[in-house]
Amino acid sequence: MKEKVFPCTVAKKCGGCQLTNMTYEEQLSFKQAKVIKLLGRFCRVDRIIGMKEPYHYRNKVQAAFGRTRSGMIISGVYQSSTHNIVKVDSCYIEDKKADEIIVTVRELLKSFHLTVFDDRTGKGFLRHVLVKRAFGTGEIMVVLVTGTPIFKSKNDFCRALRKVHPEITTIVQNVNNSFTSLVLGEKEFVLYGDGYITDELLGFRFRISPKSFYQINYEGTKLLYSKAMQFADISKEDRVIDAYSGVGTIGIIASQYAKEVISVELNRDAVRDARINAAINNIENIRFFCADATEFLLAAAEENEKIDVVLMDPPRAGSTVEFMKSVCTLAPEKVVYISCNPETLARDLTFFTKNGYKVKKIQPVDMFPHTNHVETVVLLSQRRPDTHIDIKLDLSELDITAAETKATYQEIKDYVLEKHGLKVSSLYISQVKAKCGIIERENYNKGKEGHRVPKCPKEKEEAIMDALKHFNMI
Ligand code: SAH
Repeated sequence: MKEKVFPCTVAKKCGGCQLTNMTYEEQLSFKQAKVIKLLGRFCRVDRIIGMKEPYHYRNKVQAAFGRTRSGMIISGVYQSSTHNIVKVDSCYIEDKKADEIIVTVRELLKSFHLTVFDDRTGKGFLRHVLVKRAFGTGEIMVVLVTGTPIFKSKNDFCRALRKVHPEITTIVQNVNNSFTSLVLGEKEFVLYGDGYITDELLGFRFRISPKSFYQINYEGTKLLYSKAMQFADISKEDRVIDAYSGVGTIGIIASQYAKEVISVELNRDAVRDARINAAINNIENIRFFCADATEFLLAAAEENEKIDVVLMDPPRAGSTVEFMKSVCTLAPEKVVYISCNPETLARDLTFFTKNGYKVKKIQPVDMFPHTNHVETVVLLSQRRPDTHIDIKLDLSELDITAAETKATYQEIKDYVLEKHGLKVSSLYISQVKAKCGIIERENYNKGKEGHRVPKCPKEKEEAIMDALKHFNMI
């Protein structure tokens, strides 16, 4: 039977969902076609991963407060490109509990004689309510955004709110008295609880404060991050960069597989949260840098850092040419690119594919059902030396031995994994090759000052030797 088309009555005015004329199956096909059109020339596009439950997925809900002409208090969303509020009491994509809490706040205003803010006069009390819910732990944060710091009978108000919704774990007052389209202001007062909530995601705990960025679709994020980890296939010897790292989620999840993770993020608050997140998860092999990702990568490339995997998750505008140039200089074996905008992704993949990388996998994920947004994870890997270019070379004229031309690192790794069931890094292969007298790229064997370079264990050494013999390299 055909699924009923989205039944929302305010969809047009609200403008938040653009695909309401399609069934969910049709939306998935539409997004798949969009990604194929933009990215299909790089590599086959895997079938989009859809949501099992494409409704009520938004874990962060915000409502603007105002009055109708007749003076009735309403809450909802701004009509697209206007300043009129469209009344929304329940929404098909927002968390149901969050919607209920917002309606309760609105009802309580009257009994507490509290007013709503009027942005024309700059007078009045409540401007917005923001609710964040941690789907993994059930914790709920309510942020009351007010036009003035004075909050009469705040304790009684919070008590009354919690009486109706005992599941609320923290309430924060945020003061925003400026003429701005930003929802949150600078000043904050914790009225109840800790002032933040903690979510649990893929075995780790993450602190979410009123201002910190956190992915809005919990189930979708689990699928997205798991796919990214599967593509990255990080091993214990790998040094990983997590660029555009937000509150550190991807880097922290990657740290369990890696030797070391280096995260870089521009937003100071996000970096502070990321450090706290690493601490509450007892993670020691991750470092966070508050910097522009491009500048940070330029410096890393200049210092000739040894990096095995780059994870990157830039904003909608995509990355910069300088950032990508630096990635190519660092020459990690793999780059995993997570993108919320397939247009800028297409542009950036063009750069990577012209500069030594090959697109191996493209996986769209439907993180935002009913909207026209689509998230995509891409695996790029270093292009292997071309084996099919027909040129005659006299090896004696070159500064490499015949053996060096025989098998790529990846082929050796694949062979060792298949035959011996062991994962080996490029570093270990290079150590064994060096031991066998095969000329080696120097930077594999040299650690940065103060960094200890791990030594290939005996068992792996023997397996690599076997591979080198197999490929007639020794
Ligand atoms: N990886 C995170 C956050 C992704 S959102 C997650 O999955 O939750 C993109 C992030 O890039 C935001 O946190 C934003 O602050 C950051 N950002 C934007 N421009 C940046 C830049 N030039 N350098 C570093 N980080 C930047």
